Amino acid sequence: MPEGDTIFRAATVLRRVLAGQVVTGFEITAPKVSAAVRDDEIVGSTVKAIESNGKHLFIHFDTPHEVVLHTHMKMSGSWHVYRPGERWWQPEKEARVVIRTANVVAPCFHPPIVELLAAKELALHRVVGRLGPDIIGDEFDVDEALRRLREKQDRDIATALLDQSVISGIGNVFKVEALFLAKLSPWAPVRDLSDDQLRAVVAQARKLIRLNRSGGERRTRFSLDPSDRMWVDERAGLPCHVCGTRVEHGWHPGEDVRKSWYCPHCQNVKPEDVYRAAPVPAMRMPHRERL
Ligand SMILES: [Zn+2]
Repeated sequence: MPEGDTIFRAATVLRRVLAGQVVTGFEITAPKVSAAVRDDEIVGSTVKAIESNGKHLFIHFDTPHEVVLHTHMKMSGSWHVYRPGERWWQPEKEARVVIRTANVVAPCFHPPIVELLAAKELALHRVVGRLGPDIIGDEFDVDEALRRLREKQDRDIATALLDQSVISGIGNVFKVEALFLAKLSPWAPVRDLSDDQLRAVVAQARKLIRLNRSGGERRTRFSLDPSDRMWVDERAGLPCHVCGTRVEHGWHPGEDVRKSWYCPHCQNVKPEDVYRAAPVPAMRMPHRERL
């Protein structure tokens, strides 16, 4: 599942191979296109910049209106990079965007959001314009993150951390692991947590996500056994690495139903704190495949 670390890495690779290169081919299927841009300007233009913010990736083209290709990966999207003529790992018909240069072919598979807009429209964008501070970026503004968390006082901390308008780039894995390391219950309402507690969990999330940004198998702890890469994520029924209590999991209410794994002892979670409603069938959407 892509999280902010995956998109950051995709941006790094795409920047290395595409930035400054002339686009020799551009194919796109069913994009949302702003009236301010034309997609036929892209061939012949130069790739000006590649940026990521959380799970959003932006490719800027040096066209008269500075067209920006915005892809959002959600659960399913991925960018690949190939040499011209090299065989792709996924069927060509599944690519929604293909960018070609003299040396590289870069297809994007299954992004739920693909749109073309003018650079000047980005700040007004319904989602992009509202994104919280980017947790992986060098200039992460922790005070702004705290201010935005305080606007969600009634939410539980786990749900608030996943809200991309609060902090951009935290996915479920780093949320679960950061809450464990900060010794906080995923179901604690934001209003019950002190500023120091909020800072601590945000700092843990940032540390973990930055540790993972250069790639390899995602991990939050380092043990001799490579199968023990996580503190609690997906470890229900196994003993806590710190205290030996059985790790458990529970759900969170809301539209986008999410799970949290936790240690009842280390995170001081009482059974009555955990939301008990059954998961909704919409969780099993067929397009949610692995990255
Ligand atoms: Zn424990």
